[in-house]
Amino acid sequence: MEKDMRIGAWMESHRDELVEDLTALCRVNSVSGPAQEGAPYGPGPKKAMEKAMEMCAGYGFAVTNHGDRVMTADMGPEEPLLDMLAHLDVVGPGDGWETDPFAPVVKPDGYIYGRGVADDKGGAVAALYAMRCVKELGLPLKGRCRLILGTDEENGSSDVAYYYGRVKPAPHTFTPDSDFPVCNAEKGFYRLRFRREWAMETALPRVTALNGGFRVNVVPGQASAVLAGMDKAALLAAATPLAAELGASVRAEEADGGVKLTVVAKGCHAAMPETGVNANTVLIRVLCGLPLADCESTAALHALDKLLPHGDWYGKALGIAQADEVTGPLTCSFTMITFTDTGAQGLCDCRVPVCANEANCKAVADAAMTAAGFVPEGDMVPPHYTPAKGDFIQTLNRSYEAWSGNKGGCYSMGGGTYVHDVPGGVAFGVVMPGVDVRMHGANERIPVKDLITAAEIFAQAVADICGQG
Ligand SMILES: [Zn+2]
Repeated sequence: MEKDMRIGAWMESHRDELVEDLTALCRVNSVSGPAQEGAPYGPGPKKAMEKAMEMCAGYGFAVTNHGDRVMTADMGPEEPLLDMLAHLDVVGPGDGWETDPFAPVVKPDGYIYGRGVADDKGGAVAALYAMRCVKELGLPLKGRCRLILGTDEENGSSDVAYYYGRVKPAPHTFTPDSDFPVCNAEKGFYRLRFRREWAMETALPRVTALNGGFRVNVVPGQASAVLAGMDKAALLAAATPLAAELGASVRAEEADGGVKLTVVAKGCHAAMPETGVNANTVLIRVLCGLPLADCESTAALHALDKLLPHGDWYGKALGIAQADEVTGPLTCSFTMITFTDTGAQGLCDCRVPVCANEANCKAVADAAMTAAGFVPEGDMVPPHYTPAKGDFIQTLNRSYEAWSGNKGGCYSMGGGTYVHDVPGGVAFGVVMPGVDVRMHGANERIPVKDLITAAEIFAQAVADICGQG
């Protein structure tokens, strides 16, 4: 790779302008809000988009508004060659800030602090400055480089769904909305929902209600059940050692219609089930160890204990366990379950590796649930994978190595970057490895020098991919 030294000189002399533009974008509180006329994600994201459009037009790029959801800024001849995709919406500031989250400051430690400076307005500005640099250096282009700025990344990315429903992606896309070097593989999802119904029961003792989990992507640290026809002391005596064996504890209290048994375990993210102790699976295992009446609700508990047993993080009992070298093992987290008097329903959050498909994952899990008397449903979002061997990723890594001095390479994630549904897309930057930007937390920050380096890396990539060379 020929490192174009003019890029470094241009970027150094525009450092202050980059910080000013990033500051201007971060001054707009672009947390999403209720839809308004002309602002589908609320006034904040729309205002940030208008600010960015004004900025891009001011630097001479051809700017387009796509349904008030996404803006694009283009340079070069018509033929699309490269898309850079970033987002302007941010998550709420939360508590604990030492400075105004919407009034960015550069502190003596060299970091700029503010909501969005890293996620992802920093990425957006680094990409914009890459285009500015290539344009102002007058490097001749053979095809189009497009900056795409969306406004709904933090709430489900309906912005890019809208955009890509109307516009074809360029042959290559990167999003500076993650870490360097290149993220080229993301797990897919299978969210297995299931239910089972039964007639009102009378047998005793039995479970009359059960509640575990509050969010599909969180393994719960607590779950509880109401048992009718059981004495509190006897219940505690039986349940305590069963729970302790699984690394959890229980408590019991008198409740409407019986005794309420609560399991206290350890919550964690659904993508990393081995880091927690699932209260749902502990509770079900404990209940299966009690002398409950032979009835439908008891049968449902035993069926769940068999299909989604405690400690089975990889979907072995469901028959969907699989792994590959790129994204590792399938994970299966039983995150939500409720029982009423007349039925049960639940949810599993499965993260599936790139080798998974409908046939070896959804179809198998659904068949196992059906055979056990449950009605399964759920949608599978396929994994995302862009092979590391292609020219595109090699070009990105060469530019990264040349300008950062770090070793390039590829990594994979549990899923969910901005390019998950963009064929051939990868995440690339904007955060340097090992730098804690406090993403989504208080005092979000990023070193200004890293933003300059990222802009140099992107400018070199734009020159190499879109330039006449
Ligand atoms: Zn982001």
